Amino acid sequence: MAKINDNYHKLQSGYLFPEIARRTREFAERNPGATLVKLGIGDTTKPLTPTVIKSLHQEIDNLANAKTYTGYGVEQGNPDLRQALADYYKSFGVNIHADEVFVSDGAKPDSANIQSIFADNSVIAVQDPVYPVYVDSAVIGGKTREYKDGRYEGIVYMDCNEDNGFFPEIPKQKVDLIYLCSPNNPTGAVATHEQLKAFIDYAHANDAVIIFDSAYAAFISDPSLPRSIYEIEGAETCAIEISSFSKLAGFTGVRLGWTIVPHKLAIEGTHPGEVQALWNRRQSTMFNGASNIVQPGGMAVLSKPGLKESQELIDYYMANAKIIRDGLNDVGITTFGGVNAPYIWAKTPGGMDSWEFFDLLMNQAHVVGTPGVGFGRGGEGYFRLSAFSDRANVKKAMKSIKVNLHL
Ligand code: PLP
Repeated sequence: MAKINDNYHKLQSGYLFPEIARRTREFAERNPGATLVKLGIGDTTKPLTPTVIKSLHQEIDNLANAKTYTGYGVEQGNPDLRQALADYYKSFGVNIHADEVFVSDGAKPDSANIQSIFADNSVIAVQDPVYPVYVDSAVIGGKTREYKDGRYEGIVYMDCNEDNGFFPEIPKQKVDLIYLCSPNNPTGAVATHEQLKAFIDYAHANDAVIIFDSAYAAFISDPSLPRSIYEIEGAETCAIEISSFSKLAGFTGVRLGWTIVPHKLAIEGTHPGEVQALWNRRQSTMFNGASNIVQPGGMAVLSKPGLKESQELIDYYMANAKIIRDGLNDVGITTFGGVNAPYIWAKTPGGMDSWEFFDLLMNQAHVVGTPGVGFGRGGEGYFRLSAFSDRANVKKAMKSIKVNLHL
């Protein structure tokens, strides 16, 4: 008798964006003439840049011609793109071999799928608040027990709060896999060299592996902050890095990402190269490679003109972030993040909970954000605004907050 994977019944999140949609729908019914400015969702809004568009058009033309047509590619990714990524890392001082780079359809699937190469009973540690995918994929994989008081038993939650600058201390107990996200979604916090070094030392001492999500690395402008975990000594023997073209170049719908599994990474019972080979086996078996149209687009992003154009996009979004930070600070709301990350993490004023502030902001200022508690218990009392919007919308939202929000 076929049975479903019962672990799906344990999933809690997934309510966040439907609940936001429900509340905004009800608002629209109550206020027929009003328009909401949406600064909630972390999706890019600006078009792809000219260099990327040219390359994508070229690849379509290649597929239209029998002489240049290509079918299945190498599962690990186009070797030229893997080399371009290795060169990209070299530009900020990181030595990665193209063989260690696995091109994929994005950081979200990789961050979930990577769990499949580790033992079923691996203990997973996550930051709280957290990008929900890490937790939900652990739940689906049967690594968790009961859900109580906003947390799953079986997962180790590492508190991120004002006291620790929203980057956690190393776990007090022994864990096997540690997800770290820097720059962080949702808090906008960025780990320092010292903070990452502490985790690397912990991983070595406990035979743990760090899964480092650097999807927002390109938003770091402070040269003292690491853009890759491999900038820190010792990471190549204990860390996997997952990243993406989504926010680097507006590829959220195009779909292209990468994962780095160093040859030197080894854990108990494996020899160096074995974990890298396992991920290769997993991807070759269950993934047929990223789209051949899209991969040259990734190479275009990493070309000199492509990187310049991407930087302009990032600068645009980061100017939005500054307008949002200033706008909120002007009305007395404390903010975090938004300096080396496209997310502004606001403290809800007057001790309101995240959903109370969501309703107040929507009803008074007609601005929609994301309640922090949607990212986990540690997000209660906070609110996330995204800089991935049009400048006019951002300005309209901040003006309305100034005029209409009564705290
Ligand atoms: N990782 C983090 C931390 C994210 O916030 C997101 C998207 O919001 C992703 C990964 C998704 O990346 P991709 O579009 O490459 O799947």
